[in-house]
This record gives sequence, structure tokens and C-alpha cells, in this order.
Amino acid sequence: MKKVTILVPVYNERMVLPQLIKTIQDCISLLTMYQWEVLFVDDGSNDDSLIDIKKYRDLDDRISYVSLSRNFGKEHALLAGLDYSQADAVIIMDADLQDPPSLIPEMLKWWEQGFDDVYAKRMYRGKESWCKKFVSLRFYKFLNKNSRFEILENVGDFRLLDKKCVNVICRMRESERYTKGIFCWIGYKKKEILFDRKDRIAGETKWTVASLVNLAVQGITSFSIKPLRVAIVMGLFVSFLSMVMMLYFFIRTLLWGDPVAGFPATIVIVLFLGGCQLFSIGIIGEYIGRIFMEVKKRPLYLVSEYNNSVINDGGKGVL
Ligand code: UDP
Ligand code: MG
Repeated sequence: MKKVTILVPVYNERMVLPQLIKTIQDCISLLTMYQWEVLFVDDGSNDDSLIDIKKYRDLDDRISYVSLSRNFGKEHALLAGLDYSQADAVIIMDADLQDPPSLIPEMLKWWEQGFDDVYAKRMYRGKESWCKKFVSLRFYKFLNKNSRFEILENVGDFRLLDKKCVNVICRMRESERYTKGIFCWIGYKKKEILFDRKDRIAGETKWTVASLVNLAVQGITSFSIKPLRVAIVMGLFVSFLSMVMMLYFFIRTLLWGDPVAGFPATIVIVLFLGGCQLFSIGIIGEYIGRIFMEVKKRPLYLVSEYNNSVINDGGKGVL
């Protein structure tokens, strides 16, 4: 019998757990041809989500959990879940039921037909501000213009991954993770299915403006080095401009002399150049920062507990 894991990262989701678990149980009880595991990765919640998950595990042995030693962020929680699942396919789902489990049978159908990565694309994005939608659209346009493979728009982490995808993703141990990009980077046979994203059933989104900006910068810098080239282009442009201006001032002085020292022009030029230099240094700094994080080779997450047993050595997060 094929084994399928439903992987759910959980960070302070106590309010949604009862309904989530019931919905998942209802859904998988109908799919008896598979052996199921519902794997919760508790990403250092501080609202007792873990205690509730343990209670549910006592009642239903299909439920298992990995508990991280603190909040490592969703990207790392997902990796922990993939590391700990031993299934033939893994279905990744958010805890807040924004990704409807009713799509699972369809995902399985395509998987059985030989697809390795069945991802759900949202037609409606759920309740979001127009600003978030607009920025997100521009971001994907920019990203796709600047990288060699397509990063899919309106596609989240809700997907079914075959074992072979899971295996290669687990081997990618970069600490600056941008999972959406990784899913697209690995390739394999992909199948798109469409759905309307629901609004969160309870609790609130963990994303703040700052963390979204951070994710966007991560998305750009982990899959493209084009921004570094912006500095070169800008440098060339500014040098060319200053050459033209030099020529202009030279000829003007020859023809009419230099009655007033060009104070405003000087200030403008100095500020402009200063801005360009700071911008370029900022871009370089961003990449150096990422190199710094990467070379430390820290474990990507630490596990404190796995299915009722205490883990003393950090678990699979430690290489
Ligand atoms: N999440 C997590 N760690 C975090 C933040 C979020 O594991 O540091 C989980 C969260 O519990 C949920 C999923 O990631 O299952 C998506 O989070 P959220 O609903 O806040 O994101 P949104 O749907 O608004 O993009
Ligand atoms: Mg959500």
C-alpha cells in the first residue's frame, strides 16, 4: 500500500486545529487505498498548539508530529517535515484551511497518472489588500524576467510531491531558503490544478509587511545575480553622464568664461553619485550577508521532540 504524508507547518494555530484535523480526517477516511500519515511540524508555537497535537495523536495514530526547538520560520519547518516523512508522496498544506483538503483526491489522481509535482494554483487569492496583490504581481514579473526558469505566480506551497522531488529538496541544504523557487527549480513532471483560495478560518496571518519584504528580497537574491549587474550598468551610465557634462562645462567656459562657480550643479552631482554608490554597496552587502549566513553551515532547524520521544541531538536538521 502506498504511503502518503500530509505535511502541515503549525505556528500558533491552536484556534484552527480542531476543525483542521476533523476536515483532514473526513477527507482521508474516504481514501482507504493509501496508508496515511498527518505530520504536524510545530514551529516553536507558544500557544500550546503542541499539547493539543499530542492529544489528537493519542486518539488517532495516523497523526505524528515534529516539534522544533524554537520558531525557525515556515520555510525551515517545511524542510523539517520533508526530512521526517518517509512516504511515497507528501502533500503540503497550510494549517488555516486556506488550502482546501477537498483537492487531495484530485492531486492523488494526477500523481497516479505519473505526475511528480501536482500544485494548486489560486484563482482567487483569499482576503488580501489590493496593495499586497499589486506588489506580488510586479514581484513575480520581475523575478521571471531575471531568472532562467519560471517561478510560478499565484502558486503557494499547497502541492503533492512525489518521493523523488522530496528526496532532492531534502538534499538542498541552503540556509537562505526560498521554497517556492526551489519547487520550480527542481523541474520534474508538473501538473497544475486550479482552486479558489478561502479566507483564513480563524487566527491571523503570520506575515507582516517586513517579513513579506524579506521574503521578496530572499526570492530575488537566492535565484538571480542580476541585481549585482545593476551596479555596473549604473556606474557606466553615471560615468558617461559626467563625461558629457565635463565636455559641456569645458566648452561653456571657453566660450563665455566662468562668471559664477557652479554650486547647485556640484551639490546635485555629489548627491546623485553618493546615492548610486550607496545603492550599489547595499546590493553587494545583501549578497555578502547571504554568503555569510551560508558559510556558517548552521543546522537549518533543531528538533526537540518527535512522536513522543525527546530528541537530544537536534534531529535530522543537524547534518
Ligand atoms: N507558519 C509556520 N511558521 C511561521 C509562520 C507560519 O510554520 O513562522 C505556518 C502557519 O502555521 C501556517 C502556514 O505557515 O500553517 C501559513 O501561514 P499563514 O497562514 O500565516 O500565511 P498566509 O496564508 O497568510 O500566507
Ligand atoms: Mg494562511
